[in-house]
Amino acid sequence: MEDYVIYYKSSYVRLSQASTNILSASNQFGLNVFEGIRVYYEQSFLIFRLEEHLERLKKSLILIGLPSEVITTDHFVEIITTLIKRNNFTDDFAIRMTYMVNEIDSWYSKAKPVLFIAPIKRDRISSPLPLRASIVDIIRISQDSMNPTIKCGANYINGRYALMEAKKEGADVAIMKNKKGFISESSGSCIFMIKNQILYTPMLEDDILDSITRDTIIKICSKINLKVIQKHITENDIKNADELFLCGSAAEITPIFLDPAAENTFNLTLKIFNEYRLAVTGLKYNMQNWVTTIHP
Ligand code: PMP
Repeated sequence: MEDYVIYYKSSYVRLSQASTNILSASNQFGLNVFEGIRVYYEQSFLIFRLEEHLERLKKSLILIGLPSEVITTDHFVEIITTLIKRNNFTDDFAIRMTYMVNEIDSWYSKAKPVLFIAPIKRDRISSPLPLRASIVDIIRISQDSMNPTIKCGANYINGRYALMEAKKEGADVAIMKNKKGFISESSGSCIFMIKNQILYTPMLEDDILDSITRDTIIKICSKINLKVIQKHITENDIKNADELFLCGSAAEITPIFLDPAAENTFNLTLKIFNEYRLAVTGLKYNMQNWVTTIHP
């Protein structure tokens, strides 16, 4: 990990100098909420769907019962502009922004969380490499236990178990079902399947994160006359799909396959990948100011 300058507790420090309380509720119990946001470089720096990330962060704070005051968009842009300058960035990167409970307290802490905003080295995917996926037995956490719509650190241990199981089976990524047996999502991304040129994706009630990329794909497809249906998807549906892909801010659009022996093709997935690239770089579909531009 590069020792970048980060924003932490209202000041700028090197990552290696940012100290945290080892007995804090965040360290001990994963009591933090966060967002992963990409910044693309195209002569200027472009943040994709910033407003929606900040809104989701606020929603996470509210649902987990923490004070929910979130940084303003203007302040966030000011911080990112400073981080770009201080780190001499000239390329794509990603941002991890986290509100963490840094008090020595229990998992029931209601203390005001502290904010860090840390850049992470991350290039865009130039040509998507299909990954092998496995449908695992680990069940996705549900609304009535660990709400999967909250982007909380502790929730990711569910994804960890799922990925451990997938790796044991020789796969690169896991596909989880929910407790009703419907396809839910992967460890850090949502899933789409394509059958006869129609896209299908699980419904929000299928215990998925309300993914900003999933929403972007739905909106892009409506513009290019591709039908998207949100429905309960079964394991059988997935096994009989023509194409499968994962999506997320980090995953962007990643083609996946279940059977390495099958002839897996991804023509429509690649078309959607190309349209997504145009959207995140502001060249097409700049709906509702999806792209925030920074000229450092
Ligand atoms: N599901 C989970 C569990 C995730 O962690 C992510 C990544 N944030 C996603 C889906 C995709 O969400 P988004 O498109 O908003 O990045």
